[in-house]
Amino acid sequence: MATYHPDDDTLISFAAGKLTNPLGLILACHLQSCPQCRQRAVHFEAIAGELLFSLPATQLSSEAWQSMQAKLASKETTPSLDQRKYRSHSLVPAPLQRFAGNQFERVKWTGITRIKSYTLPIADKRFSARLLKIPAGVAVPMHTHAGLELTQVIYGGFSDGQGHYLAGDYVEATPHHTHQPVADKDSDCICLAVQEGPIRMTGPLLKWLNPFLA
Ligand SMILES: [Zn+2]
Repeated sequence: MATYHPDDDTLISFAAGKLTNPLGLILACHLQSCPQCRQRAVHFEAIAGELLFSLPATQLSSEAWQSMQAKLASKETTPSLDQRKYRSHSLVPAPLQRFAGNQFERVKWTGITRIKSYTLPIADKRFSARLLKIPAGVAVPMHTHAGLELTQVIYGGFSDGQGHYLAGDYVEATPHHTHQPVADKDSDCICLAVQEGPIRMTGPLLKWLNPFLA
């Protein structure tokens, strides 16, 4: 059971379908592993549905009516999170499998240090998303960011001086939050990280890398 969760505003935005792809993906990954947040998201979705039905009825154009009929007749309806078929024995969360496959061993990890990453092909103008694999006991260089940094721990755990996060936890770091995550000593750590804007290295030897990270 996760200890760290997204706040209600974020869950409401997710339930209303307002989140862009990288944010929607990290929320979907958290919800898959967190029955508590899933229940709240369903609750907010129901409230949104009730609000929709309480609005005054409007005349549907013939094109909109035909489009809706076609969608209802189509078998390509979007399955719910629970109905979605995926390899249940995989460590890769179901919403991620479309972008990263279903085996972490087969992900095309890159990186010149022991820390490996894989950029997911779903970035938008504000946010990018990548998988991070940090070997047991290894520290990510001290850094801060231009905007939000959201992390969903998928496997293992890490500490950053503010807390200790384990698989299932959803961690939000703000631009004022300079931190140095360190993977737990007993296991590698795999995370999904969604970042707003570039990362800024703050360690003395790593500042020169910043122009290359933008
Ligand atoms: Zn949760």
